[in-house]
Amino acid sequence: MPETEAFMFDRIELQREFFERLTTIDAAIVDRAAKEPCRDCGGPLHRGDYPRKPRGGLLAVAAEAFGRRFSLCCGREGCRHRVTPPSVRFLGRRVYVGAVVILVSAVALAVATASAVTRTTGVPARTTRRWLRWWRGPFTTTAPFVDLSARLVPAPDRRRLPTSLLERLGGDGTSCLAKLMTWLAPITTMSCPDGSRFVRGVM
Ligand SMILES: [Zn+2]
Repeated sequence: MPETEAFMFDRIELQREFFERLTTIDAAIVDRAAKEPCRDCGGPLHRGDYPRKPRGGLLAVAAEAFGRRFSLCCGREGCRHRVTPPSVRFLGRRVYVGAVVILVSAVALAVATASAVTRTTGVPARTTRRWLRWWRGPFTTTAPFVDLSARLVPAPDRRRLPTSLLERLGGDGTSCLAKLMTWLAPITTMSCPDGSRFVRGVM
């Protein structure tokens, strides 16, 4: 196999500093979201973070130390509406952190066999297959993908997602992962509609 750019992604190991950077971005996002009143009752939003048990697999063991999902809760009695703003660390309810979902999917596209992917990344083959189906299917109907496709000419190759996006976003391995997570952040939560405005300009 030729040493393509995509294949090089399996040499990346995401270190503590990378997740510290993402945590700083998430903190800026939750601070912005907290400035708005509760959508249901107009009451004040207070921090109501909750614990998660993120997995990083073999390529991002450091991720497992960053388990707090930043969240907000309405302070008004009887409402207590919860708003979980977008995140550049967590990709929805998946137990693996977002950067690992992207990175391992890129490795799975580049490496010939499922067993080699599992050996390199520590992520079970059925999980990586599910992720690749998501990138090719439901992901292509999301607002971030539609926005990105409109900006990138020619449009990224849908059969090679997410690698085709990483290549187009540019930068070295870890910075293009962070950039892509910033694009994906709005789809990391269902409880914060139009959350993309909290993410704009945070990087
Ligand atoms: Zn409220």
